[in-house]
Amino acid sequence: MKYYDKLIFELSKEGRCGYSLPVNKFPKAPEVPLQVAREAPLLLPQVSEPDVVRHYTNLSQMNFGVDTGFYPLGSCTMKYNPKINEEMAALQGFAGLHPLMPASVTQGACKVYEEMNKALAAITGMHTFTLDPCAGAHGELTGLMIMRTYHMNRGDFARTKVIVPDSAHGTNPASAAVCGLEVVEVKSLENGRIDVEALKPLLGPDIAGIMMTNPNTLGLFETEIKTIAKLVHDAGGLLYYDGANMNPLMGVVRPGDMGFDIMHLNLHKTFSTPHGGGGPGSGPVGVAKHLEGCIPGLRVSGFHGNFGVILRAYAYILALGNQHLKEVGQHAVLSANYIKECLKDKYKLPIEGVCKHEFVFDGLINDGAHDDVPGATTLDVAKRLLDYGFHAPTIYFPLLFHQALMIEPTETESKETIDAFIEVMRKIADEAAADPMLLHEAPHCTPISRPDETTAARNPILKYQDTL
Ligand SMILES: *Cc1c(COP(=O)(O)O)cnc(C)c1O
Repeated sequence: MKYYDKLIFELSKEGRCGYSLPVNKFPKAPEVPLQVAREAPLLLPQVSEPDVVRHYTNLSQMNFGVDTGFYPLGSCTMKYNPKINEEMAALQGFAGLHPLMPASVTQGACKVYEEMNKALAAITGMHTFTLDPCAGAHGELTGLMIMRTYHMNRGDFARTKVIVPDSAHGTNPASAAVCGLEVVEVKSLENGRIDVEALKPLLGPDIAGIMMTNPNTLGLFETEIKTIAKLVHDAGGLLYYDGANMNPLMGVVRPGDMGFDIMHLNLHKTFSTPHGGGGPGSGPVGVAKHLEGCIPGLRVSGFHGNFGVILRAYAYILALGNQHLKEVGQHAVLSANYIKECLKDKYKLPIEGVCKHEFVFDGLINDGAHDDVPGATTLDVAKRLLDYGFHAPTIYFPLLFHQALMIEPTETESKETIDAFIEVMRKIADEAAADPMLLHEAPHCTPISRPDETTAARNPILKYQDTL
């Protein structure tokens, strides 16, 4: 362990101080009332200024982010976050706004909302958007509330079920359940697309609608979408589009033209604003014209959502413009297919053919299993990637494959970066074949190797414990 891997509490030295204040010339402030006063002094680390700076700098370097390296996390669109977006969000006229300011002094912000609404409508083919929801899942909930309201406004109270494909993102069935809808699963075919024949018997007077994404969670385009849209509409249901990852489609195809009635977007994926540990999100919801009146009148979030995020995404759209927005999808799709083709002799590709912005492998072709040594798993590959400075892809999702390894490169990576990733993935496959133990014990170069994941998730130790 390096000296500065120590916790800041362990670096503490009684009486050491990082600052010195001048003697207080003012009269003493009134004492804090006893009933709210602390019984013992607060236990704070006592360190010098350089120790504090090193502590935070070293902590930041233990983390992995899109600014540190390639981050091919499938279904997450970890694209580069252009710094111009940050500059725009930091402009004093925007950053200094308070939500309770009168309309007379917030016209600039109102204009951004309006322009953003129009831009998103143009990109998606929807009639209008609400920018209020603060995340993808929040958008799903808002969109499903719109779906329910639409049916109830027509006096139709029997539509209590929503169809969700087995490949769907986990938030889809979860949002449906939170909205009080019952989830009905529709199976996928061998080729990864929705089984239209299996869908037909599910449709009836109890179906409020279907939630889909296209390309679906396997990165595959649902070629039967027009047929599906007609079937669902004919049965009186609505089509909900999960547009968290609209990346491959921007400027190429629009959900509105495919027949979708309601959708959400993740500005923190498709439109390049930071996410994960990096910041708040935004999940605007768009509707077709006949649903405009069903958008919740009451706010679904405090003060119209995360304005700073909307502003960053707006800056991104303006920076790219009509022409370059189209190229986002083209480059993302090219990168994904390139990686897939360069690795499919080492990793199992369950569904052949052209993918969109992402694709799924089902583990290693040769996992190195022999005698009493178990073969290397997808988890082992993911852990080993950390040793080579790459973030792992999404693993064990979607649930359709046991060893799922879901790779999404995005459009912002250079060919050199992508080639380096391919080289490392091939090397790891060779290591697995020769010596799976090396992978079972990875990562070897990170501050900690393999915590017990259940304990780490259920009983995390998040603050300093004196007794440690
Ligand atoms: C990320 C994602 C979501 C959920 O978005 P959050 O902002 O994390 O709530 C929903 N659907 C898909 C397909 C996603 O990739």
